[in-house]
Amino acid sequence: MTDLAKLAIHTMTTKPWSLAKSVDAFARAGVGGITVWRQHLLPYGAAEGARMIKAAGLTCTALCRGGFFPARDATGRQAAIADNRRAIADAHALGAPMLVLVCGAVPELPLMESRSMIEDGIRAIEPEARAAGVALAIEPLHPQYAADRSAITTLGEARRLCERIASPWVRIALDVYHVWWDPEVGDEIARCGSAGLTAGFHICDWRVPTRDPLNDRAIMGEGVIEVAALRRQVRAAGFAGFDEVEIFSDELWAQDQDAVLARIIAAYRSLD
Ligand code: ZN
Repeated sequence: MTDLAKLAIHTMTTKPWSLAKSVDAFARAGVGGITVWRQHLLPYGAAEGARMIKAAGLTCTALCRGGFFPARDATGRQAAIADNRRAIADAHALGAPMLVLVCGAVPELPLMESRSMIEDGIRAIEPEARAAGVALAIEPLHPQYAADRSAITTLGEARRLCERIASPWVRIALDVYHVWWDPEVGDEIARCGSAGLTAGFHICDWRVPTRDPLNDRAIMGEGVIEVAALRRQVRAAGFAGFDEVEIFSDELWAQDQDAVLARIIAAYRSLD
């Protein structure tokens, strides 16, 4: 096993590349896994995507993303559920073990309403996920996105949501970018781990100052998140899956992607 065997990279990290280009470059670099975003999968379709990933010897770690359940009316909520069902089918065809859920929020709706729509939405699609063998990985997002991207903001809230639904197919994607600030993060990593809820682990770093709330994430080691320490805690709590590098960065997307990939791999090797 190489030191990169448990490294996976999100196709959004190398957003300017096509899925084919990312698959080829990640495999050449010795990276073990790839997390596929739907916009990169779209030009190929899930069957072709699965074929390319398998031929390259990569493991497909997840499909991103489903969710966005809250909507102003029933038609919108039904459309979201239908879209999530399509995403589950694509994840299954792609060979992805999980579909990551960015749960959604609507600025005009009270947060508690959004939260109940999220729970209703996940309950509605759980049977399809179970039948497809695709876990639904709830990703709590940093509270800066609470109004418009995710009304689920902490690991504790995601864990309680999982415990209420009580399905082995409803679990959590833990992203250091979203949870590093939480004074409860260590306790929640332990609770989620011992309950078998941690399905995915995403890494990047928090730049200071952050110039853009969405697209200014940094490579591990270039910000303030204690990535290595969090990874030790996640592993000590029983997680044995991939370290998925997920970096949204206008700055990095504007650069040569081969050079960015080399920097990411060097940074990954420097963790610990
Ligand atoms: Zn993430």
